[in-house]
Amino acid sequence: MAQDYYELLGVRRNASEDEIKKAYRKMAMRYHPDRNNGDKDAEAKFKETSEAYDVLRDPQKRSIYDSYGEAGLRRGGAGAGGFHHFDLSEALSVFMRDFGGFGGLDSIFGAGGRGRADSRQGRGQDVRIRLQISLDEVAKGSNRKVKMRALQRCEVCGGSGAQRGTRPTTCATCGGAGEVRQAAQSFFGQFVSVGPCPRCRGEGTIINDPCDECRGDGRTRQERVVNVEIPAGISENNYLTLRGEGAVGPRGAPPGDLIVVLEVEEDERFERKGDDLVYHLPLSFSEAALGAEVAVPSPYGDFTLKIPAGTQGGTVFTVRGKGLPNLGNGAKGSLHVRTQVWTPAKISGELQELFQRLSKIEGDPPKEAGIGRRFWNKMKETLGA
Ligand SMILES: [Zn+2]
Ligand SMILES: [Zn+2]
Repeated sequence: MAQDYYELLGVRRNASEDEIKKAYRKMAMRYHPDRNNGDKDAEAKFKETSEAYDVLRDPQKRSIYDSYGEAGLRRGGAGAGGFHHFDLSEALSVFMRDFGGFGGLDSIFGAGGRGRADSRQGRGQDVRIRLQISLDEVAKGSNRKVKMRALQRCEVCGGSGAQRGTRPTTCATCGGAGEVRQAAQSFFGQFVSVGPCPRCRGEGTIINDPCDECRGDGRTRQERVVNVEIPAGISENNYLTLRGEGAVGPRGAPPGDLIVVLEVEEDERFERKGDDLVYHLPLSFSEAALGAEVAVPSPYGDFTLKIPAGTQGGTVFTVRGKGLPNLGNGAKGSLHVRTQVWTPAKISGELQELFQRLSKIEGDPPKEAGIGRRFWNKMKETLGA
């Protein structure tokens, strides 16, 4: 069963980024696999706390988690089946990413001398793209084909990096294992560590005759079309992680992820308030006074709204279920229709005569103190403002 991320790290719900980072570091020092001789409970704890830390350190993911829990991350933060519990290599790479440069840990945990390399050997880079979506797509969800340029497998050598007709040869230094044992010094004390082979950089093979097209990298920059499934209820700056859809790794190494940051286009018809929408409906004098049936737009198509006789300007009609779906539970919000009595700007001829006649018989507006203010306060309450 999924445990609360805050409890896992032993921090308060309002903990600062710094407190979260410190709490995780403490946990990682205790449960890191290299310190626990393959103990399965420690490994599980390391994976859980790394996952908790990776979510809580990211303000976007943290706010989704705070509002919707893990379900929110599954639906919006990750989407397309992208969210899953961390495996060991992901947990290790989170640890390496944020603490890898710390006091000699590089040599302990096997990324020695490779800078900010991912602990998953040679894994391709994550690619980040921005995608604009309409409010209608927020309402219904959508499926978009997105063109992107990223490193893809070289078509000439099939990704091996070796010249056509030649093959990579086994690395003599490590005998093809990709790893070498070495004594390392760290703040845990001295011990023997297994690190990537420096000659073949952990790949186990050496390319003597590199491919002309990719110069031995096994990749070239190419355009590609990716299918992005956008769940309903997305907000500005939510993002989707498409596992394995980023750049491929060198010479057949696993690909990175594609991170799609979503931008919601301004919709002239509606104001968005969370899952609710506000629509401003202009009414003529006679519609407001006599009542009318008017067409009102919604993200699901137009519908008819009955305006009762004697409707004041500023009245808010709340239509449940015509707002946007909630990212967490799919329940639809409300559409608030706010009326505005529209005064004709040009008055001439017959219209002028009619208004003059009206002015003699309509009587005065109410003089009761505070009546307008009370009316508007009530409407604001309806709008949840
Ligand atoms: Zn090639
Ligand atoms: Zn080697």
